[in-house]
Formats: sequence, structure tokens, C-alpha cells
Amino acid sequence: MTNWLDRILYNLLPGRCVLCLSPTKRSIDICIGCELDLPFSHYACWQCGLTLPESQELCGHCLVSPPPFSHCFAAFEYRPPMDKMIAQFKNSQQLAFGRVLSKILARQYIKHHLRYPDVWVPVPLHSERLKIRGFNQALEIAQVIAAETATPVIGRACRRIKATDEQKLLSRHARKHNISGAFVCETDFQNARVGIIDDVVTTTETVAELSRVLVKQGAADVQVVCIARTPHQ
Ligand SMILES: [Zn+2]
Ligand SMILES: [Zn+2]
Repeated sequence: MTNWLDRILYNLLPGRCVLCLSPTKRSIDICIGCELDLPFSHYACWQCGLTLPESQELCGHCLVSPPPFSHCFAAFEYRPPMDKMIAQFKNSQQLAFGRVLSKILARQYIKHHLRYPDVWVPVPLHSERLKIRGFNQALEIAQVIAAETATPVIGRACRRIKATDEQKLLSRHARKHNISGAFVCETDFQNARVGIIDDVVTTTETVAELSRVLVKQGAADVQVVCIARTPHQ
């Protein structure tokens, strides 16, 4: 939606902050106070998005064994209240949380990048999970990012054919095995720079596996954009 239309709509129907419920008088449903309290990501590894104690290009792990994507950008660190906000969005169908977080992510992304990918691809959900949830949270985020960056999104570029267990509950070795072969893709990405969109990047194995599939389909470059990145544990 264009900004002026946004403003007119919000003047007619003033929004409330998704966190404290006070009127926002903004074109986004979060008040300035609550937004400033969110755990914005400050210093992060350019390649994997992991929070670093100070400004440096790459983390030690990416220097030694870089992932198959060239860049990972997260607006936030995954710590309170991000866990509750994302759970409200994903599991309680409170899409207003998703819209607020996606809009802030788009704004932060645009602020930090001069060039965007050619196309956005949301991490696909397995059809069983999609049936239960009713929507793919990554596609919801991707649609906001696509509109704000004037870059197309291909919602069905790839499919998830393996109903994987929760990655964060598994050991490193088990995670790799769990996600291997999870995605199939028939879309031709010849020479395209592709931006993967996800809600939270925890271990990077999922986005790394999808990146490998996209590169096999011809992608010249793959980057990852997510709402929040889990800090080193
Ligand atoms: Zn508030
Ligand atoms: Zn890194």
C-alpha cells in the first residue's frame, strides 16, 4: 500500500499497538516506545547473521566453513519479546504481529542495502503443516518485503516434501540428516540473485539446504532475510 493511502486509512481507523494496546497514531500497529524496546540486531556476521560482540565482517565459523548463502540479514535478535510475538503470529493466527514485524524488517533491510535480490522466495511449509496452520508465515513476510522493495516474490517456487522435526531440538548431525532432501524445486533460477525469506533463523541448516537447491537450479547468488536470528547458545 502506498504511504499516503496508508496514512488516510490509519486516520480513519487509528491502529493500536500490538504489545501495549495504546493508540499508535502511526502507519504501523506498534507504538514508538514498544518499538524502541525491541531487541534490534546491531552487530552481526555479514554472512550468517549471527550476533557478534562488536563490528566485524565475518564470524569465526564463516571464515573457516562458509554457508552456501552469501549473506543473512535479521532485523532482530531472537529473544523476548520476539519469541512471544512470533508465536502469536505463527501459532495463534494473530497476523497483525506478522505485519508489524515484516514492516519493520522491510524498513531495516532497505536502510542497510542498496541493492535487492531479483526475486524473493519464502521457505516453503510442508503441506501437512500448511493444512494445520492455514498459512505460510514466510510467504506472509515475503509479500510485505516484496511490496516494500518492489521486487517480485515467487510463492510456489519450491516445495517441502519432507515433514521435518523441529530443527532446534536436534543435535547438529541429526539436524543435517533431518533437513537433507527436504526441498524440491523445478523453477529455473538461471543467473538470478535470490533472497530467501524466513521468520526465524535458528541453526541455518534449513536455509542452507534451500540455498543448495536454489544454486542447483541456477541461482547466481542466494541471501537470507529473516525477522529474527537466534543468538549463539
Ligand atoms: Zn506499545
Ligand atoms: Zn557467520
